Amino acid sequence: MAERLMKRTLAIETIDAIGQEVLLAGWVNTRRDHGKITFLDLRDRSGIVQMVVIANQQQVGAEDVVEVVGLVKSRPASMVNPKIPTGTVEIEVKKLTIVSHARELPFPIDTDGYDINEEIRSKFRYLDLRRPRMNRNLRMRSRAAAFIRNFLLARDFIEVETPILTKTTPEGARDFIVPSRLQKGNFYALPQSPQQYKQLLMVAGLERYFQIARCFRDEDPRKDRAYGEFTQLDMELSFVTQEDIMQLTEDMFARMVAELFPQKYISQSPWPRLPHKEVMATYGTDKPDLRKDTNDPNELAFSWTIDFPLFTEQSKDDFYYGSGKARFAPSHHMFTAPHADDIPLLDTDPLRVRGLQHDLVLNGFEVGGGSIRIHQPEIQNKVFELIGFSEEQKSQFDHMLTAFSYGVPPHGGIAPGIDRLIMTILGEPSIREVMAFPASSGGATSVMDAPSAASTEQLAELGIAVIFKTK
Ligand code: ASP
Repeated sequence: MAERLMKRTLAIETIDAIGQEVLLAGWVNTRRDHGKITFLDLRDRSGIVQMVVIANQQQVGAEDVVEVVGLVKSRPASMVNPKIPTGTVEIEVKKLTIVSHARELPFPIDTDGYDINEEIRSKFRYLDLRRPRMNRNLRMRSRAAAFIRNFLLARDFIEVETPILTKTTPEGARDFIVPSRLQKGNFYALPQSPQQYKQLLMVAGLERYFQIARCFRDEDPRKDRAYGEFTQLDMELSFVTQEDIMQLTEDMFARMVAELFPQKYISQSPWPRLPHKEVMATYGTDKPDLRKDTNDPNELAFSWTIDFPLFTEQSKDDFYYGSGKARFAPSHHMFTAPHADDIPLLDTDPLRVRGLQHDLVLNGFEVGGGSIRIHQPEIQNKVFELIGFSEEQKSQFDHMLTAFSYGVPPHGGIAPGIDRLIMTILGEPSIREVMAFPASSGGATSVMDAPSAASTEQLAELGIAVIFKTK
């Protein structure tokens, strides 16, 4: 568009430009030939508008990128298409330039796409994202993030970015590790969450922190999951109770649903707060689906699960906790505070200690979790011991205990999963449907071919030799 003389008009703007000559630019959505006349639908970020081409045109086809100069005309009443916002107008094409040709696409993009093989969708993700459904999902996700930012900033929160190259922050999964070139033989871990940093920001006196944070967890494949990374709204507050955190979260998401998803309704307010024991006895799960009518795609049933046990019996999957011989693993994470009344039980009957954990549940999915944190070094130490930490393992968290020795406010937080939340609100079957470039559940990246081998030079710089074990 080097020497563009006219200002570009968007498809949606043509409804206010009847009688004007306009310049449009976008993709050919469809081509329909009717004898001497060809109808082309032009698609841009604002939607679709119909163009009529009378003269014998160049061979323009679906998904070609075109620039068009044309006259906006109102359609006769009988030709109005009520299904599209620009259905009252059409463009009489004066000049059509093909900017770039499109090969035949590997799959249709005018369907919802659910039945197309996941691998192919992933390989050609940039085409899959042209699909109106995917386009809408990304747009709604972006609007949700903007809503959350505005909501929290207006309530005195500070948005802070925390490091990605860091030290282990266990949340119950394996770490991804990154080799250091400057300190050969040493490794960074990618954060499973910003948990420790956000607590340190409370020691720093920020009082109200949030971040739309990427988290990395090397978990085994699961069908409805994307592998490796996800996004959470990470929050931490000082001088608060669990109730404060739950009310703030509830207020934020109730307003977000009303403003951005007006066709959806929340079936029960305030959101029920259900003790873990009760919810397990009644529903057999700690994330019950409380919808009154599961056939209704617009019902949102939020609830809180509280009063979790602080510990569960350690299973062989809790490989990173302690020596593997300890009986107890944290049911949330190791920074969650015990209920004040239950502190004596830490010495006598740890499995009966309740934790100040709160999980946010929506339509049967866990969409967030958080807790009030331990801020007393001696209790933190006791938890480390109960989960079987050796002195060396404890020393990995010395910085937390040191920080807490300089005046730490009582604090707590929560981290709703953005992908999971938007997926559930939109009624999508997988979080991959609300992520731009998700990895497959088996760990293959979208479009680009990773993981892939490092070059000999890269490995040499890192001082690493790759040895394949046969077993
Ligand atoms: N760090 C926790 C998580 O990622 C959330 C929290 O405790 O705030 O699940």
